[in-house]
Amino acid sequence: MSEQIIIIGSGVSGITTALTLQLLGYDTTIYTEKVITDISNKNEHPKFASLFPSASVIPHSVYSDQLKKLFKRSQSIFYELRKLAFPGITINKHYELWESKPNRPDYCNWMLNYEAVSDTDIENIPHRPPVDNLYGWSFNCIFADWSLYMPALLDTYLQNGGTIRQKKITRKIISDLPAETIINCSGTGSPSLFDDPSDKQLVVRGHLLHKADAPLLTNPNGEVVSYNYTPKPAIYSDSKGKAADVYCYPRKDGWILGGSRQVGTLGSEEWQVSDNYHEIEGIRFPKQIVDLNSEIIKTLFDTELSIKDELTPAVGYRYIRNKKDGLRLESETVSNKKVIHNYGHGGAGVTLSWGCALTISEQLLSQEIDSAHDVLLSEIKKVVPVNSS
Ligand SMILES: Cc1cc2nc3c(=O)[nH]c(=O)nc-3n(C[C@H](O)[C@H](O)[C@H](O)COP(=O)(O)OP(=O)(O)OC[C@H]3O[C@@H](n4cnc5c(N)ncnc54)[C@H](O)[C@@H]3O)c2cc1C
Repeated sequence: MSEQIIIIGSGVSGITTALTLQLLGYDTTIYTEKVITDISNKNEHPKFASLFPSASVIPHSVYSDQLKKLFKRSQSIFYELRKLAFPGITINKHYELWESKPNRPDYCNWMLNYEAVSDTDIENIPHRPPVDNLYGWSFNCIFADWSLYMPALLDTYLQNGGTIRQKKITRKIISDLPAETIINCSGTGSPSLFDDPSDKQLVVRGHLLHKADAPLLTNPNGEVVSYNYTPKPAIYSDSKGKAADVYCYPRKDGWILGGSRQVGTLGSEEWQVSDNYHEIEGIRFPKQIVDLNSEIIKTLFDTELSIKDELTPAVGYRYIRNKKDGLRLESETVSNKKVIHNYGHGGAGVTLSWGCALTISEQLLSQEIDSAHDVLLSEIKKVVPVNSS
């Protein structure tokens, strides 16, 4: 009989880890308080992060000393899923642009078709009209079109023998759970379930707007274009005066417009916010998400975006833990059970989902990751649903 493993949580980390282990031959059961498909108003559940991702596969807003390894493992699975036409996986020409010279993050070295932008080409790259200097780069970026990808992931897990039990786990019942190994993917639920060595538990609140039925934004080569754009701080900044970014990620079901990165502490509803808000359906969000995106989209794509459009706001929490401890991917013994933690992914839980799942598999299999990776790939090829979209 194959070994039983319990996963706590059914966000993207829980489902991806459970599916990976299931495909590698384990018998998995997910115990979860909430399931994505049951939730009709996501703004009532801001702590359930997997209701919100935009979802670019870029390691933004996350701390981990294993970032390169986790990202590259994830990226390779996402590319494979793309080849297999797994629902929702697309690739855009993605720009990251600044009006002041940025530090170049390491992940630039890991992206395909990376290219620095040049001022001479400013007319052909996303920008606001009065700008003379632009810095940054473009690369091929994977996106997971969330309304397609997440349900397909869940279905793939269930179709392959996975089980989901809807139940809130408490510290008291951990010792009674019917498996010797537990993977903790409970996100913001983690510090109440297990002791966490960090004294600070930071969350980064993010605002999004969905504009339904908006067209894909394409360049003259017919490539779909998306961007993150950071203007001078005088145009858009956080509460500390640091320049902040807006973004537009075109998807089949419209545009996802962002963003904000407001820091707060888990358990407290206080956020470092700056002024200048629009309000829709009682949700206040930084006005530059509309105003600046609107200028950029009008300038390059000659397409309109206005606060008068039908826009659906969302606000969710990225649980980043803190800079010192960051993503928690380690094991310990609790109530005589082996517990492997997988939480604190900040703004990169989708991005790192496969990498984290493979790293956990490596710990369980005591096997070189390359072979787990190869087995996973060959199993995925057998089980991916046919994409009818
Ligand atoms: C605005 C916004 C934009 C984002 N954009 C991106 C992006 O572009 N790219 C990207 O990679 N990431 C992005 N993210 C981050 C990403 O959404 C998260 O990192 C990811 O969803 C975390 O998933 P998770 O499964 O670890 O946790 P969660 O999705 O929070 O899931 C936790 C699960 O645990 C369950 N649970 C909690 N406590 C208990 C308990 N006691 N008993 C049983 N079950 C329990 C919950 O019910 C839930 O099912 C974004 C996040 C936000 C908010």
